[in-house]
Amino acid sequence: MDVQTARALSDLDLLEIEMDLLWGSEGGPELVLACARDGMRARISNRVRPEVALTLAAEIEHGAPPGGDSGAPPVRLERWRVALEDELDAAVRLTPGSGPSYLIGTAVSIRTNAELIRSDSGDPARLRAANPGNWGADEWYDLLDSRLGPWVMAMHGERVISICHTPVANTSAAEAGVWTHPDFRGHGHAAAVTAEWAALMRASGRLLFYSTSRKNRSSQGVAARLGLRRMGYLWQLQSTNRGVGRTDPRVRAGPSTIEGNALYASAPIRAGEMVFVWGGGSIISDAELRAVAASGRRYCSVGIDENQYILWGADDPDAGGRGAVNHSCDSNLWMLDARTVCARRDIAVGQELTLDYALFSVAPELCMECHCGSSLCRGVVTGNDWRLRELQERYAGHFSPFINARIAKLYRP
Ligand SMILES: [Zn+2]
Repeated sequence: MDVQTARALSDLDLLEIEMDLLWGSEGGPELVLACARDGMRARISNRVRPEVALTLAAEIEHGAPPGGDSGAPPVRLERWRVALEDELDAAVRLTPGSGPSYLIGTAVSIRTNAELIRSDSGDPARLRAANPGNWGADEWYDLLDSRLGPWVMAMHGERVISICHTPVANTSAAEAGVWTHPDFRGHGHAAAVTAEWAALMRASGRLLFYSTSRKNRSSQGVAARLGLRRMGYLWQLQSTNRGVGRTDPRVRAGPSTIEGNALYASAPIRAGEMVFVWGGGSIISDAELRAVAASGRRYCSVGIDENQYILWGADDPDAGGRGAVNHSCDSNLWMLDARTVCARRDIAVGQELTLDYALFSVAPELCMECHCGSSLCRGVVTGNDWRLRELQERYAGHFSPFINARIAKLYRP
């Protein structure tokens, strides 16, 4: 589809195309509400019974349009959230990734002092040692070799300071994924790489989208700088749990490159999307966990609060991610709350899912050698790693909440 055609499409039509792009395969939130000035459309997961989904969709799509563009969720969202909780018998929450979506139109162009390198030109080999630190080692090479799609990077000397890549694409559309080093934010680099990425992608004839969360003011600033057309908002409601575990259907098991079995993404997962909810099992104390460990039986456990663990049998399917997700010292998943694991960065098809065990474990007996291959590998992983200043900064706010609270206490004046 070309840009002329896109111009003729309504905001709501475009948001629908973007929803297909982001969650077309499977997985994703229970309800995504596309809210544009010209109306609302609902995308409801197949975990909701069809008759309930139909009623809900009719109510959403035939109701009054949302009206203004204030950035606040529609008033009736709360009512639909409660309806989903009743239907799923699970807690449902508005995901932090909810926010505005933009169409990247023609002729966006931004002047920049930084050197820009594109995936279709220049010398990507020069960048092999320039991983800015927020990509796993293998992911970085996959990116440079264009296995994850086209990209543009802004350089400051030999440092990569901003990246626009392609976390998700299908035949008709592609999504921009933008990152800028914290020290270089606010200088137009993100806008410059996004504009160049759009120029690079344009030949493919795809519609190009840029979406962000409502709290991410700097990303919204990038959209404003580029003069992008705001289509509206994607509000995402997702179930966490009330004791019921859940693994996103995009998660697949397979042999690991790190150790034993592993979990992989069978479809793209975007930063902020929920991947596992830990449920089932039984809730036990420190003393009980020590007794289980001493018994020699095979088990999985995760810390969810002080002196509180979930314990599963080794083969319990409710152990979900915990049973098979490998540790990495620079994991692509982190904690959203005590039981919910979400993507720390965009994850491409085929990438292994990893979770730094320091994010949920303070167990004194945790001590294992690590061969995760990350340039940030600690060599040994222990239950004291949450005390490392470097990890506290890297994962700020995304440890299990009881560990976040411990860290806050350390630095209280
Ligand atoms: Zn490691």
